Amino acid sequence: MFKRAISGIPRPQLEYETLPDAITEPIKISTRQITLLYEGVLDVKRTVLIQKGDKIKTGQRLCLYEPDEAYVISSVTGTVTSISPLMGDFGRSYTAIGVDVAQVEVLDDEFKTCCKDPSLKMAADYLSFTPGRPPLKNLADPEKAIHTIVISGCDTDLLITANQYAVRHKIDAVKKGIELLKKVTDIKNYILAVPDTLMQGYGDMGAQVKGVRSGYPAAHPVFIVKAIFGQVVPAGKRCEDLGVSFFSAEAVASIGTAFYEGRIPVTKMLTLIKKDGSKRLAIARIGTPIGAIIEKFHAPLHEKDRIIMGGPLTGAAVYSVNHPIGPDTHTIMLQDKDQIPLISEYPCINCGDCIRACPAKIQVSMLVRYLEAGHYQQAADQYDLYSCIECGLCSYVCIACIPIFQYIRLAKYELGRAAIGEAGNV
Ligand code: SF4
Ligand code: SF4
Repeated sequence: MFKRAISGIPRPQLEYETLPDAITEPIKISTRQITLLYEGVLDVKRTVLIQKGDKIKTGQRLCLYEPDEAYVISSVTGTVTSISPLMGDFGRSYTAIGVDVAQVEVLDDEFKTCCKDPSLKMAADYLSFTPGRPPLKNLADPEKAIHTIVISGCDTDLLITANQYAVRHKIDAVKKGIELLKKVTDIKNYILAVPDTLMQGYGDMGAQVKGVRSGYPAAHPVFIVKAIFGQVVPAGKRCEDLGVSFFSAEAVASIGTAFYEGRIPVTKMLTLIKKDGSKRLAIARIGTPIGAIIEKFHAPLHEKDRIIMGGPLTGAAVYSVNHPIGPDTHTIMLQDKDQIPLISEYPCINCGDCIRACPAKIQVSMLVRYLEAGHYQQAADQYDLYSCIECGLCSYVCIACIPIFQYIRLAKYELGRAAIGEAGNV
């Protein structure tokens, strides 16, 4: 990951947000319509198990096909009004299930029955779409012998506080989630990684507590692994390849709540950052359209304003207020059309700022030349594309406003697609 050392040159230092001691309670958002996103293409040649007009319950596990491992959990009680294909970032395919929300809520009791006899498979089969998206399937992957779970109480981008909120205000649920993970896996090592400033009060968590520095991107899993274990995650590999699986504190709290209350959590806490920079905490059912949250906080949008899902360095623009929030939506950021950072087609001026900013020590200015030309494989082979941890700092500092981070994500996506195509042709 750290192939080329550059010493003595200072980098810009951005700090993670610190959750204030006194925070206002999240505002509850209600909506009459939600959209559940099933991760997979709508295949009309197969028999689709869910139809328009079907009644569904809160917490119900919905599969589109039989047999099918993929599923989505209904966050409301209501009636299915539409089933349609939806194209996501970089051509990812989803099936959007529109639901009219009923006035009277009915809880599905399938999970309540099976959670009396917990297992890893059962947890993965019901809780993979709960708030924080617990990566439970990784633990069952026989090719990755996971020996340690790191529960991250740190947030992954600037201005986000969802995981800090979980380790501050849902600590009992996090503790119960750790107990449950110990029960359903053979994994013995648990580490709770929290911001340096939040180290107090985790004495009996069942996990070793470690502090993480406040400078971005110290809370990225590869840096936590380096700081705690002294190990470097090789380029193109993930922490799981070293036997370390990362769960967000919010995800572990979801597991704890689910098993100890016998219900699947279906509400997501998130931060709305308004155009003036002010922040509001909201709590909404997964699948709530972004527009309902924006409306609740009286945050008007005008033509050419931008909606970003995610933090300022790694978030992605969405183009409709009907886009639903997902189990991993921590932040919605609104940008006035006059504040949107410029993207240019000016050539690189070789200032070197991106190289100084890059925590993975990549020769970014060379990498970007290959990416702009669409030479993705050469970018990977010669300029460390896969060493990139996607922190976004290079784009942030680029004086020529080259969308380097977006080029990087596109290149990785295209190479991934090509690899899947080649595997399919073997
Ligand atoms: S996003 Fe840019 S700065 Fe961050 S690791 Fe990748 S190349 Fe380096
Ligand atoms: S920061 Fe932008 S302009 Fe400067 S060297 Fe990097 S890519 Fe080129």
